Amino acid sequence: MTNEGPSQLTEHLPTGLAAVEEAVARACREARRDRASVTLVAVSKTFDADAIEPVIKAGQCVFGENRVQEAKAKWPGLMSAYPGLSLHLIGPLQSNKTKEAVALFDAIHSVDRASLCEALAKEFRIQARRPQLFVQLNTGEEPQKAGIAPTDADSFIAGCREKYGLPISGLMCIPPVDDAPAPHFALTAKIAARNGLENLSMGMSADFAIAIQMGATHIRVGSAIFGHRANLSPAPSARGWRPS
Ligand SMILES: *Cc1c(COP(=O)(O)O)cnc(C)c1O
Repeated sequence: MTNEGPSQLTEHLPTGLAAVEEAVARACREARRDRASVTLVAVSKTFDADAIEPVIKAGQCVFGENRVQEAKAKWPGLMSAYPGLSLHLIGPLQSNKTKEAVALFDAIHSVDRASLCEALAKEFRIQARRPQLFVQLNTGEEPQKAGIAPTDADSFIAGCREKYGLPISGLMCIPPVDDAPAPHFALTAKIAARNGLENLSMGMSADFAIAIQMGATHIRVGSAIFGHRANLSPAPSARGWRPS
């Protein structure tokens, strides 16, 4: 009898990863870029450890989560079972969760306000950890979305560096859903270049090939790897809640 594997669900995940890997490699070839210049951040938000493990076993080692509490519930166990993983925070960070975020994440893609810079600078003084920092831009200037407006970006980046002593590594953007992403990626790349920033966190499942074309160094890909997310907020257990 053949081994049919653990379940249909977990079985299709590495296939998603393989397809994304192939598309990333193709986009890099077309853009004449080295594959090693693009970090694939596998966005595992809402998926539990059982769904994540096959992706780790398939060789993926950089993951993204958008909530600190959810990540705290899932990742410490996985990280001790699989040394060498790196975890990126891609969602908004409340200042009162900065301590936990600095302790857990290797990169934070959502630096978007002075009060957060202040909280990060404080944790950098206390903790020996230095997650890589990205300033989030709101390139579409959408009122409901986090991020620094493009016109405020230069002064905000200067403030991060000079006032708070934070090493900013790059910029992150999330284009408006109804817009063509390319102009948003181009604007983000232009602002990064004039501020001497090397890293660009841009591109998701639907548009990572365009983002690679436009210089992305970090692409954040969720559904193309893990499948569709239930359109619900995560269950309390996924956020680390336990009955007392
Ligand atoms: C969920 C999320 C992603 C991944 O989106 P997909 O379309 O599933 O690839 C990328 N970036 C951020 C900030 C996200 O919240």
